[in-house]
Amino acid sequence: MVQRFDVSDRFAAGAQYVAGRLAPGSSGSSHAVVDPATGERVHPFELAGAADVDRAVGAAREAFPAWAGSTPADRSDAMHRWAARLRELTGEFVYAESLQCGKPLKLSAEFDVPGSFDNVAFFAGAARQLPGVAAAEYSGEHTSYVRREPLGVIGSVAPWNYPLQMAAWKILPAVAAGNTIVLKPSELTPFTSLMFAEAAREAGIPDGVVNIVTGAGREAGEALVGHPGVAMTSFTGSTAVGKRVAEIATGTVKRLHLELGGKAPFVVFDDADLEAAAHGAVAGALINSGQDCTAATRAYVQRPLYEAFVAAVADLMGGVRVGDPFADGTDLGPLISHAQRDRVAGFVDRARAYATVVTGGAAPGGDLAKGAYYLPTLIADAPQDSEIVQHEVFGPVLAVLPFDSDDEGIALANDTPYGLAASAWSRDVFRTGRAAREIQAGCVWINDHIPIISEMPHGGYKASGHGKDMSAYSFEEYTQIKHVMSDTTGAARKPWHRTVFG
Ligand code: NAD
Repeated sequence: MVQRFDVSDRFAAGAQYVAGRLAPGSSGSSHAVVDPATGERVHPFELAGAADVDRAVGAAREAFPAWAGSTPADRSDAMHRWAARLRELTGEFVYAESLQCGKPLKLSAEFDVPGSFDNVAFFAGAARQLPGVAAAEYSGEHTSYVRREPLGVIGSVAPWNYPLQMAAWKILPAVAAGNTIVLKPSELTPFTSLMFAEAAREAGIPDGVVNIVTGAGREAGEALVGHPGVAMTSFTGSTAVGKRVAEIATGTVKRLHLELGGKAPFVVFDDADLEAAAHGAVAGALINSGQDCTAATRAYVQRPLYEAFVAAVADLMGGVRVGDPFADGTDLGPLISHAQRDRVAGFVDRARAYATVVTGGAAPGGDLAKGAYYLPTLIADAPQDSEIVQHEVFGPVLAVLPFDSDDEGIALANDTPYGLAASAWSRDVFRTGRAAREIQAGCVWINDHIPIISEMPHGGYKASGHGKDMSAYSFEEYTQIKHVMSDTTGAARKPWHRTVFG
């Protein structure tokens, strides 16, 4: 029997976290977190409704003046303590994240959890260094300076694919800059967001600074986005829901930060290291079972390498061990849910009409049949304008297409509505330099695909949204800029008064 994280007591008080306490929801709708590896309901709870959102926003508003008025050093100290407390809880976070998402333990342990905790440490430091222009006498008669001020209560909505990282990306820059926050995680994956907020209180961050409401998108999500007490909406999720969120947020004149879907191209020029490119494509397509907004989804391979690339990728995919996330030796876990597995299977099944499924294209049988598993899948011969090449599948599926000239490779890479991430593979610095300049995406990797780092921004171009997560750039999102212009002359009649007084 594989050991799993026991949640029965952990969240007995409820899956809402408001003003420093776990609490039940009051929507009247119940819901259960399901272990995607087994299909078992592991934790039933009552969802948040509009009244819970209202309470959470109230708690965040009450906490705002004192938190915004604390010094950057005070906030930084508290966040350093938060990082230290989180590190003590590493094992619990790894198990909880793997249980609710179906992530192999090694993925949670080596990527999600340490990456998120490093974000806390980064923002603890960055809180003391909000950048701005130097004060100066730009007019000659005034001293001008810029104040970077928090906005108030931030309302954030996050997806299920990286619940802890998304909580970190949303909460940390907001609170480091002096805002307070209400985060709505996906109701499929609330555990680690709740634990993250609890650890903040244990570290001495005041009650009400970080609040979590776990509810359905239509109810709690829309109530949060439309709430008049919320100054800014920060949303990560699909482009379709992002459009709806934008409509509601715009109606209440909120600042809006959108991190949306992706369809990352993976461009292999004919001088690339084939072995490196094949390994990079498989790892980049399969990480988190392909449920990654930056996953490699469209490999464009220059004709001389095409056949060898297809063969190498199919071979490597065949060696990836699909299995229980908690079992030793598992490389690839299930998808988040049976519904998501069926959605992915639908994309692949429709593609059979116009493309070739080189490997995969099925759910595994045997012991894995009850979980939401899907085999690593490679699809060749799909036209550029086909559904499998243009739409976000969000599963362990890679399409591969050939190209001839460099111009064509870059044009194909840019030929979807999305622009979140991309990679280019070549040994020629001029080719990689051109790809870095001309591919329209918020991140372009050269000879790698996927790594992220706390110091560097993450965010989209085009229909992948706008705004940056992580890095000092995210302070642009979570602060408002005030220009203060102070007269230095003391004169009653300023030179510019001539325009009025003659
Ligand atoms: P989703 O858009 O279905 O849901 C995201 C969140 O929005 C969830 O919390 C959901 O409950 C909520 N929601 C749903 N309807 C809502 C509504 N009407 N109003 C307010 N909130 C609502 O996305 P998902 O299926 O949870 O996650 C997968 C998607 O997220 C993919 O498209 C992926 O590319 C994207 N994603 C993007 C990034 C990024 O940084 N750009 C990162 C991770 C995931």
